[in-house]
Amino acid sequence: MKLTTLRPKVATLRSRVQNVPTASDRRITGRTLQNRRLRIWSKDPHCAKCGRLVAYPHGFELDHVVALSQGGLDVDANCQVLCIGTDGCHEAKTRADLGQRRSR
Ligand SMILES: [Zn+2]
Repeated sequence: MKLTTLRPKVATLRSRVQNVPTASDRRITGRTLQNRRLRIWSKDPHCAKCGRLVAYPHGFELDHVVALSQGGLDVDANCQVLCIGTDGCHEAKTRADLGQRRSR
């Protein structure tokens, strides 16, 4: 009984310390994500950056226009198609997002 009453308290404490959920908390997964990928790709199957036509489902990555770590929302309107690969725009964008956080 003691353990079960303790748990909500810890959760409350934690949410008070960091009331902004982390990116991984907000990121959707699984079936919802697959549906979103198809939905957004169907609207425009081109890379948002270089305009390259990308293939479903393995030719692109869904990217957040405003990164979640930058306060972007995990909604369709904040998602775009980016091509992937060694010279893909998704890799470049990810590197840029990480660079911003490091404040180089
Ligand atoms: Zn591209």
